[in-house]
Amino acid sequence: MDPQIGIIGLGTMGANLARNAARNGAKVVVYNRSAEKTDEFMSQYGKEGMIEGYKSYKELVQVLTPPRPILIMVKAGEAVDSVIDELREHLSPGDILIDGGNSNFEDTQRRYDNLKKSGLKFIGMGVSGGEEGALNGPSMMAGGDNDAYDEVDELLNRMAADDGVGGKCVSLLGPGGAGHFVKMTHNGIEYGVMQLIAESFDLLKRIGGFDNDQLAETFEAWRDSDELSSYLLEITAEIFGSKSDVLDAIKDQAGQKGTGKWTTSAALHYGVAIPTINASVDARIISGSESERKSGKNFPVSLDEQDPVPPPMKFRSIVRHAYELSMLLTYMQGILLIKKANEDEKWGIDMGEVVRIWRGGCIIRSSVLGRLQNAFGKDEGKVKAGKQAIMERFQGDRQMDFRRTLVFASSRGIPTPAMSASLNYWDALRSETLPQNLIQAQRDFFGNHGFERVDKEGEYHIDS
Ligand code: NAP
Repeated sequence: MDPQIGIIGLGTMGANLARNAARNGAKVVVYNRSAEKTDEFMSQYGKEGMIEGYKSYKELVQVLTPPRPILIMVKAGEAVDSVIDELREHLSPGDILIDGGNSNFEDTQRRYDNLKKSGLKFIGMGVSGGEEGALNGPSMMAGGDNDAYDEVDELLNRMAADDGVGGKCVSLLGPGGAGHFVKMTHNGIEYGVMQLIAESFDLLKRIGGFDNDQLAETFEAWRDSDELSSYLLEITAEIFGSKSDVLDAIKDQAGQKGTGKWTTSAALHYGVAIPTINASVDARIISGSESERKSGKNFPVSLDEQDPVPPPMKFRSIVRHAYELSMLLTYMQGILLIKKANEDEKWGIDMGEVVRIWRGGCIIRSSVLGRLQNAFGKDEGKVKAGKQAIMERFQGDRQMDFRRTLVFASSRGIPTPAMSASLNYWDALRSETLPQNLIQAQRDFFGNHGFERVDKEGEYHIDS
């Protein structure tokens, strides 16, 4: 039997995933809340495969064979609950609902638990790759039960991007909210890397004096290098290459829909430091803080610009190293967040698998993921080599360039929140001592919180 899928929501993602499924031989039945969108979709794409459009949940459910897989691609939040509430009366035990939107992993866990009680199966699946990925091959991070996933495994594999090493970028990562947790963190990493590219652009432009043509050439060179090549650099090179006029006209205020904020809050909850990602969320918030920025224009400033700026190609190489090392630290922070949540929640996520399915299709796909897959995977032989390959990047001149970049930035008053957070993260981790002994003494002084000593076991107080 041909694979089948129902798709609810024909916005950017739903429409392209429907076309992707149809092109991969599935029977696809679609529904959209506003019926005119269904008509429009059917007239434009209905002939691309076995696609049928319906205007009620009842009809959509009737034409699918149980157990029915139905992908919900609507706005995250209340819309998902309202679709599930209206749809469930038409479903039978064993049917499988898949939420492919950017849902909060806690909502996914709640939906999974609720639906389980009525015999319905639920998969929370983060989808990355934007419009183009949804059509030609996204990366899909699923959470749910094996028996539910088995029903859609074949179709999802046909639809997903190639990982470049013989596999497909889709996997059942764990139960309940595990898939959406991984997708949320993917987006947190995305925030970090985008901010780092933006900071590199700012430094090259404002300190190095690069114009848009030189910036296009720089990002093309970075994109084409083995160490840095990534989807985000590809689109950045393209923006500077052919769309730089528009870029200069865009307001410097970045929006966000919530996954960055959720990553920050999850990291606080699980007690994991993700300073680069946090700084990137803050950077977007500051960019949109109009009144604060307006009064900030009058803040006093004293600069120290004595250290001469190196010639353009040298300066570019210095900034490139700062970008590379902070980008690596951003991925590491995200991976460590998933690792800790996985331990606490006992999801059983295979970290190597997480990194593998990010290698194609998704927004954070990058050449560094090969090394990271080895370093965080299960293959002990490869773990050591993978970690070593990453540590080698931090050696010698590259690390010195990382530091020099931030000296240039701070002496000239150019903000580099994400790069600076990355270097501080690195230095904090490698420091043999941290000043938190003083924090402990202060906490005990005012709050009698007690502290441990380095020279003997037990709990002590500053006055005893
Ligand atoms: P979109 O283009 O804005 O479309 C939203 C869809 O949700 C429309 O079909 C809309 O129906 C439907 N909808 C909204 N509220 C509804 C409700 N209460 N009941 C039923 N349907 C409702 O959204 P999208 O970009 O495709 O995104 C869909 C999901 O994928 C979101 O969770 C998004 O965060 C996630 N996502 C998006 C991207 C991306 O690049 N766009 C990438 C990854 C993940 P109407 O036409 O009737 O309004």
